[in-house]
Amino acid sequence: MRVMAQLAMVMNLDKCIGCHTCSVTCKQTWTNRGGVEYAWFNNVETKPGQGYPRRYEDQGRWRGGWTLRHGRLVPAAGGRVRRLLSLFANPGMPHLDDYYQPWTYDYRTLTDAPLGDDTPVARPVSAVTGAPAEVTWGPNWEDSLGGAPEHAAADPVVQRLGREVRFEYEQAFMFYLPRICEHCLNPSCVASCPSGAMYKRSEDGIVLVDQDRCRGWRMCVSGCPYKKVYFNHKTGKAEKCTFCYPRLEVGQPTVCAETCVGRLRYIGVLLYDADRVGEAASTKDEQRLYQAQLGVFLDPHDPAVVREAQRAGIPHDWITAARRSPVHELICRHRVALPLHPEYRTMPMVWYVPPLSPVVDALAGTGFDGEDSGNLFGAIDTLRIPLDYLAGLFTAGDPEPVRMALRRLAAMRSHMRAVNLGEPPDPAGPARVGMDAGSVEAMYRLLAVAKYEDRYVIPTAAVGDAHDLEGIATTCAVGGDGGAADGSTDLFVWRDGERPAGLFPTLRREAP
Ligand code: SF4
Ligand code: SF4
Repeated sequence: MRVMAQLAMVMNLDKCIGCHTCSVTCKQTWTNRGGVEYAWFNNVETKPGQGYPRRYEDQGRWRGGWTLRHGRLVPAAGGRVRRLLSLFANPGMPHLDDYYQPWTYDYRTLTDAPLGDDTPVARPVSAVTGAPAEVTWGPNWEDSLGGAPEHAAADPVVQRLGREVRFEYEQAFMFYLPRICEHCLNPSCVASCPSGAMYKRSEDGIVLVDQDRCRGWRMCVSGCPYKKVYFNHKTGKAEKCTFCYPRLEVGQPTVCAETCVGRLRYIGVLLYDADRVGEAASTKDEQRLYQAQLGVFLDPHDPAVVREAQRAGIPHDWITAARRSPVHELICRHRVALPLHPEYRTMPMVWYVPPLSPVVDALAGTGFDGEDSGNLFGAIDTLRIPLDYLAGLFTAGDPEPVRMALRRLAAMRSHMRAVNLGEPPDPAGPARVGMDAGSVEAMYRLLAVAKYEDRYVIPTAAVGDAHDLEGIATTCAVGGDGGAADGSTDLFVWRDGERPAGLFPTLRREAP
């Protein structure tokens, strides 16, 4: 067992109102600069919809993430030779139009136009070239199903479900999906980089770009299946979500989490077994990848895990934080949070509580009590089409984990309504979803009334070490053709073969 610690996020989709505050505050903090006008490290998509960049989930076209070849994990874009051959003509590279042409307005006309009979108008101009632009697409063009069914019909997950499903689904509900970089355990962006500029910090698992090493090959852009690396066309370097590491290092949540109006984001530590990541990501049946990733996470209350974590040099505060982690609670204990597109095999670390509210609304609309657990359980099973859609997003198509998560949320609503009305709760409700009253109430506290310090449990003990870490980029990849640019196949490789004293002493690996 090789214990490592990772900061991870869970978002409760039931509470997202699609206000885009997270996107705007992130943009204001990180990408309010020339060269990255089109970049949104945090974006909020309406589902069903094509997303941003357009149809990024269509890996048949973009070939991001990993695939299994003869049982071995290789980048979906091909082995090292094939990737090198595509350095100068990469068919998996999105164009600016796949994102959108960023635009501004010719405001000067409003003040400088000569006196005339017509009122001057500020026309849109490209923020890149300055030329007049026609605005036909944007990062949030499909907001709240704007343009549906034209745009929703082009959603790759909807298309996999079939035409009939699509229309029935649209009548059922829509929801918002906020997205940031997943800070994956097995990041294909890192393995794609020919310069070794992308790295995963060993201290907290945050995936970053070393701006000094980046040569602008953009293989990370095409290698990431979530399309969460962006090319700065002014600096010629790649940029991406940093998980706001300067804030995290001093115990503050990311900007998107801090400013989230719905208070739906949770940040905490997960302990995991680094030795099991490669095997889990290579799970043959893609519908088992969710369970495989769960199997990588370790129980921070297990004395054997704590012993190994201490031996690995993980600071005491991090182990304590892992025990209080809201992310661990929602993912591992209550099992209501699920990974986004586990079939990409990158082992994503931003997980989602699927939305239940539309099911409640749909039920209430038919005249039934939308809070009654019996009715709710039936409704979840009846609304199989959205269930399949959610499964297409979160479990590679397996509806069972999604159904169980929704049933647990339904049991919680029903139980807490009885408690709040002073009625005796039905003990059979939690039991039907494998829970007891205590854990249902603990889950309610976390999902409904958690305070700031319960939603963000971020250790700060290693702040001093974090500065040392900035100088020792690590490269992360899992074996075979998908190895790191330096040819190594280990998960963590110290770039200079050395590591600073006191940091994860057992994790040092020499390049083979
Ligand atoms: S592969 Fe994962 S870690 Fe890398 S940019 Fe994409 S989402 Fe982030
Ligand atoms: S700020 Fe929160 S509620 Fe608003 S869109 Fe972002 S994630 Fe959703």
